[in-house]
Amino acid sequence: MQQSNPDTETFLAQFSDILLAFDYKERPEGHLPEEVWKQLVDTGMYLPVIPAAHGGRENFAEISLLLEKAAYHNLGLAMSMNIPTLLFLRNVMLYANVTTREEVLADLLPHGRMGGFAVIEPGVGSGSVTMRTFFEQEDDGYRITGSKHWQGFSGAAHWWLIAAKDKAGGAAGDKVSFFIHKRAAGGFTTTVKYVPIGITLMDYGVNELDLFVPAYRKLELEQMSFNAIFLLTSPSWGQWTAMGAGFLTRIYEEAFRYAANRKVPAGYLLEVEHVRYRLGLIAACRDVCRALLAYLLQDTEINTQAPSDLFPWQVMKVLAADSMIAGALHYQELCGGDGCRYQAESNFSAQAVQDAKGFAIFGGSNDMLYALLTHYCLTAPGADAATDLLQLVENYAPVSSVAAVLEESGPIPDVPKSNTAMVICGRILARLFAIVVIKRFKHTIPLETTAVIAATTYCKQEIAALLLNWSVASAITIKQEVPA
Ligand SMILES: Cc1cc2nc3c(=O)[nH]c(=O)nc-3n(C[C@H](O)[C@H](O)[C@H](O)COP(=O)(O)OP(=O)(O)OC[C@H]3O[C@@H](n4cnc5c(N)ncnc54)[C@H](O)[C@@H]3O)c2cc1C
Repeated sequence: MQQSNPDTETFLAQFSDILLAFDYKERPEGHLPEEVWKQLVDTGMYLPVIPAAHGGRENFAEISLLLEKAAYHNLGLAMSMNIPTLLFLRNVMLYANVTTREEVLADLLPHGRMGGFAVIEPGVGSGSVTMRTFFEQEDDGYRITGSKHWQGFSGAAHWWLIAAKDKAGGAAGDKVSFFIHKRAAGGFTTTVKYVPIGITLMDYGVNELDLFVPAYRKLELEQMSFNAIFLLTSPSWGQWTAMGAGFLTRIYEEAFRYAANRKVPAGYLLEVEHVRYRLGLIAACRDVCRALLAYLLQDTEINTQAPSDLFPWQVMKVLAADSMIAGALHYQELCGGDGCRYQAESNFSAQAVQDAKGFAIFGGSNDMLYALLTHYCLTAPGADAATDLLQLVENYAPVSSVAAVLEESGPIPDVPKSNTAMVICGRILARLFAIVVIKRFKHTIPLETTAVIAATTYCKQEIAALLLNWSVASAITIKQEVPA
C-alpha cells in the first residue's frame, strides 16, 4: 500500500499516463493486461474505497472523480475499475469480518489482484426465485454449487463475491446470502467464454461453481431478497453518473470536432442546423449526467454505509445508462458511413456505442429498475390517497417540487398498475428527478443559462413523449398468451 498521502488532485494525476495509454484513440485490443491492472493497483486505485483504519483513503468522491476521468478516455476501462473497487472490495470492507478484510487486502494490494461480483445465472431471468446456486453447511464452512454467467473478469478475477441460496430453503426460496471465495482455493471454473459487443477489456463467460468457503467468509448480512441485493450494488450505480459525465464530455468534444471538420455541400457539417440540434442533444445528455454527478458528490454520504433510500441511486444508474447510449448514438449518426465501422481514422463512435449499450443491462436491467422506481413511489407514505399520476408525484418528496412539469407535458394518466405503466412511470420519475437536480446544481457544475434550459427541456420532451407512450401502449402491446 502506498505510504504517501497526496491530495486529491495529485492522487488523480498519478493515473493520467495509464488512462491515456487506453484512450479511445489508441484503440487497445483484447482484455486488460495483468501488468496494467497491477499498475492501477500500485497507483492506488483501491485506496478510496478502503477505510482509513485499514490504511486506505476512504474517499468516495475520489473514486467518482477517478472513474469520471477514466471514462473520458475509455468507458470500458472505467467499468473495469468500477467492478473490483465498488462491487467487490467496498462490500468486503463493509460486510466481511475483520479476518476476511485483512486477508483480502493482503492479497489484493501487494499482488495487484482483482475481485468480481457473481450474481446472475444462465438459463433463468434475473431474480432470486429462479436462482439455482445453493449453499449448504459442510464441516466448518459452506459448499456452494451452481452456475453463474456474464461476470466481469470471469476468467481473470482472483476473488469472488458470490450470491447463493440456502439449499435447505429449496429452489423456490427468494432469500440469498453472500460469500467471499478465493479462486486459488479451486471450484470456480470458467467453462464458456463469451464474445461481448462492448467493454471488451473485461472477459465474460459461464462459471461453474463447486467450491468450499470457510464459515468466516460468509458476509455479515441477513439473508436478502433479490431487490435487497441492490443495497450492495447502489454505490456502484452512483458511479454510472461519473462515468456518464466523463464519457459524454468526450463524446460531445469528438462529435463537435467531427462536425467542425467534415465538409458537406452546405459548407461544414456544423453549419447544418439539425446537426447542431444533435450536438445539443449530446450536450443535454452530458449535462444530465453532470448534474447527477454533482448530486452524488454533494448530497450523498456513503463512505461507511449503504444508502437507506435507493430511489436516487437507481435514478443515477438508469438515467446515466440511457444518456450514454443516446449520446453515443447521436455521435455515431453524425459520423455517417464512417460511424458504421470500427477503427475509422475520423471517429470512434462505433466502439463508443458498443461500450455504452451494456450499461442499460448490467447492474440490473433498466426496464426492471424503472418499474421498481415506481414501486418506491407507490409505497411512499400517503401514496394510497393518490388517484392519478399528478397526485402521486405531488406526494413523493424526491420529485414533488417539479410536479407542475407533468401538467405542462400531456394528459395525466391514472395511478400506474400494469407492468408497462410501472416501467414508463419510472422513466418519467427519473426525468423529473433529473430536473430537480439540474435546478439545484446548475451553479455548482457550472452550467450556463442556455445549457440549463437545454438540459431541462430535453428531460421535459422525454416526459411528454413518455406520457404519449403510456396512453397508446396498450394498442401496441402484443396479445400473446403465456405458453402453458
Ligand atoms: C457486459 C455485461 C457485464 C455484466 N457483468 C456482470 C457481473 O459482473 N456480475 C453478474 O453477476 N452479472 C453481470 N452481468 C449480468 C447482468 O447483470 C444481467 O444480464 C442483467 O441483470 C439482466 O439480467 P438477465 O440477463 O437475466 O435478464 P432478464 O432478467 O432475463 O431480463 C431480460 C429483459 O427482460 C425485460 N424484463 C425483465 N424483467 C422485467 C420487468 N420486471 N419489467 C419489465 N421488463 C422486464 C427487460 O427488457 C430485460 O432487459 C453482466 C451483463 C453484461 C451484458
